[in-house]
Amino acid sequence: MSDQQENKGLDQKVKIYLGASQRASIDSLLREELDKELSVIVAQQLMRRLASSPSPPRSPNHVGFWLSGECGTEEVASEVDPDWEKTPEYTAVVKFCMKPDSTISYRGWSNCRVCGCRNGNQEYHREGFIFPQGYLHYVMEHNVKPPQPFIDAACQAYPEKEG
Ligand SMILES: [Zn+2]
Repeated sequence: MSDQQENKGLDQKVKIYLGASQRASIDSLLREELDKELSVIVAQQLMRRLASSPSPPRSPNHVGFWLSGECGTEEVASEVDPDWEKTPEYTAVVKFCMKPDSTISYRGWSNCRVCGCRNGNQEYHREGFIFPQGYLHYVMEHNVKPPQPFIDAACQAYPEKEG
């Protein structure tokens, strides 16, 4: 093989490689965008289905549990609202979910019903509410808005600073 032929072959390889890696990064950008949109849609559909499920929640103090979930309790109706993360209620709920009064550990991990990630193996208790450790993930990553009494308790625990 002559030097010229060898160089030509190398050039081609580089071209193919660059082409593939560029395509890959465009693909992954697109995928990320699509994932974000899909995640909101999937979460909304899941929540709607669960909210209209005929089985009543075990107790209004159980928040964020799923049908056949790790504790055998049902999801308490939640809404998905992509806009509420700009509100002071959102900040209060995030803080509230991060600091449980007590926790119970379970052996099995729970996976996120929307994106499938590993999402906690504990049950959190705070101020009379019982919610999964992974509830915060649904709130922060999938725009899940808790029931109003939960939001109220969080706002009471973390009132908006005045002035
Ligand atoms: Zn998720």
